[in-house]
Amino acid sequence: MKFDNLTDRLSELKIEYVKDEPMSRHTTFKIGGNADVLVTVKTTDELKQVLLLANKLNVPYFVLGKGSNLLVSDNGIEGMVISLATLNDITISGNKVICGAGASLRSVCIAAQKASLSGLEFAYGIPGTVGGALYMNAGAYGGEMSQVTVSATAVDSLGNEVVLSIDDMKLGYRTSVFKNSELIITDVTFELKSGKSEDIKAAMNDFFARRQDKQPLEFPSAGSTFKRPEGYFAGALIEKNNLKGVSVGGAQVSEKHAGFVINRGGATCGDVLTLIEKIKDVVKNSDGVTLEPEVIFVGRK
Ligand SMILES: Cc1cc2nc3c(=O)[nH]c(=O)nc-3n(C[C@H](O)[C@H](O)[C@H](O)COP(=O)(O)OP(=O)(O)OC[C@H]3O[C@@H](n4cnc5c(N)ncnc54)[C@H](O)[C@@H]3O)c2cc1C
Repeated sequence: MKFDNLTDRLSELKIEYVKDEPMSRHTTFKIGGNADVLVTVKTTDELKQVLLLANKLNVPYFVLGKGSNLLVSDNGIEGMVISLATLNDITISGNKVICGAGASLRSVCIAAQKASLSGLEFAYGIPGTVGGALYMNAGAYGGEMSQVTVSATAVDSLGNEVVLSIDDMKLGYRTSVFKNSELIITDVTFELKSGKSEDIKAAMNDFFARRQDKQPLEFPSAGSTFKRPEGYFAGALIEKNNLKGVSVGGAQVSEKHAGFVINRGGATCGDVLTLIEKIKDVVKNSDGVTLEPEVIFVGRK
């Protein structure tokens, strides 16, 4: 088999992997064909070894967070998918929270709240990891990662460690330096403000309740399908063009929130892509606005 060299070496190094792993199991959309090899690294050292191996054997790789912003091809992902899910330590030191990139935002928000640290309330309910959130500069309700992050450590494709300041990260609307580099984030430091634990909890619960009220959380999705076009809201444009409820195969524009494409059951990546193109065409023709997907497509064409 094509990646036998790789899996033989991973076995020798005692690094955990599975072959031909369906990515539908690792994305919130519940869509996606097989990753040739899914590797779970438990330490930064393991990550470095895996990167050196990929380099040596010329194997392409992709870094997976919680798969909550991904649309994975029905034809799967070539080479290696690297999961950092177990790099998930959370340490509190004064007003700083230092997290492994695989830590879930949910657990970081809860740890900060318990330590009476305020600033991350907005992120409670965003279903990603710290690494994925920094990569995307995830945000909600007026907050975003750029407001609370002070530094991050990353590893380059040759396994060298790099420390980045907030300025180095070039965080903007749903973008960061990580989008245009091969850097893999391994840990992130947030600096928060002292607050009252019960007030922080109340704010988190309020944000979560707003999500439950407005978003189609009962269906698999990858959150907002499109970025916010300047001067508009994608959901409002889509709704205005009577696209709510429109479907292609198992993919549908949510009837609850037009900004979400949902998987009603059995949706393929192809269904979602066709629906996205349809929405873009209608909105472009009627309003002259070009919608840009926020969801990231990954995998074989
Ligand atoms: C119901 C729902 C609600 C959502 N609400 C919001 C919201 O309010 N605001 C918002 O901004 N987003 C929202 N999202 C989208 C998504 O949760 C965020 O973009 C999240 O930050 C993605 O994190 P992840 O760990 O799932 O990353 P993934 O989806 O796994 O990956 C996203 C990108 O980050 C890269 N990446 C992941 N980890 C690393 C790493 N350690 N180093 C380098 N690159 C990495 C991946 O390669 C990929 O390119 C929502 C999604 C859903 C399903």
